[in-house]
Amino acid sequence: MFESLGNKLQDILDRVGKERQLTEAQVKAAMREIRMALLEADVNFGVAKDFVARVGEQAVGQQVEGSLTAGQTVVKVVHDELIQTLGGKTAQPELRAEGNVWFMVGLQGAGKTTSTGKLASLYKSKGRRVLLVAADTQRPAARDQLEVLARQVGVPILKVADGESPAETRRRVDEHLKTDFRDLVIVDTAGRLQIDEALMDQLADLQAAMQPTESLLVVDAMTGQEALNVAQTFDRRVKVTGLVITKMDGDARGGAALSARSVTGKPIYFAGTSEKISGLEPFYPDRVAGRILG
Ligand code: GDP
Repeated sequence: MFESLGNKLQDILDRVGKERQLTEAQVKAAMREIRMALLEADVNFGVAKDFVARVGEQAVGQQVEGSLTAGQTVVKVVHDELIQTLGGKTAQPELRAEGNVWFMVGLQGAGKTTSTGKLASLYKSKGRRVLLVAADTQRPAARDQLEVLARQVGVPILKVADGESPAETRRRVDEHLKTDFRDLVIVDTAGRLQIDEALMDQLADLQAAMQPTESLLVVDAMTGQEALNVAQTFDRRVKVTGLVITKMDGDARGGAALSARSVTGKPIYFAGTSEKISGLEPFYPDRVAGRILG
């Protein structure tokens, strides 16, 4: 595991000395390599810097245990801290007996609509009665795309009309629920290619009308450095409660996950692992920690 970083650290540390306790000089030499590894995994520069500072403090004076080398000891400290920063354990969104409303937000192309369909499928298989709301009025095909997914999963869908007010959408959803009981309503909202104020106002208005119990930010793992800015801006305006990291099946090493999680402090609930409706898994911090270290 983590051979590339592990080997590099071992070379450096074994050159520095073979004491059974990590010295400040050793740790300093190792931190540079660790920062490089994080940046190569596309972790935001500031996040990487803070992370390395934290790990450095922990590592100085650390006993080199049993059969481990100094390099392996540092890698273990880094790995453990990465897992903690990514949330420690696998977390699940809050789910009440009824009255759950999940709000899906994110930039266009992040995988919002796809993830909405995937969540419908997952929670239907868990016995939930799901209603989808297609409120992405920005991307021309998004509502039709969600309708196809709804049909595939076998759940009802309510499509928001162009120019419909948030209050009207809320009224239509309530109306639907009166005749067709649903305990989980998932709302796919509008995204833009870039964050802009008009989009944020629109989202905030719909959020105020829908009163979601979870607001999930969908982040594309391939966005790298930009993930921090996206997460920060959405969280400021729509109070994100959790994250979904998509396209983890691609080349991205997971730096976006670390950046988004670090800046919002919100749990990463799911990872998108394919384009298919079944391609959604719980997020496992330990697996992603390994992947970031490479
Ligand atoms: P939206 O604009 O945020 O609603 O984005 P879409 O849901 O339309 O997704 C944009 C593209 O990303 C589509 O081609 C999806 O099939 C693809 N996509 C979404 N999630 C994943 C994922 O986890 N893995 C892969 N490989 N592709 C994904």
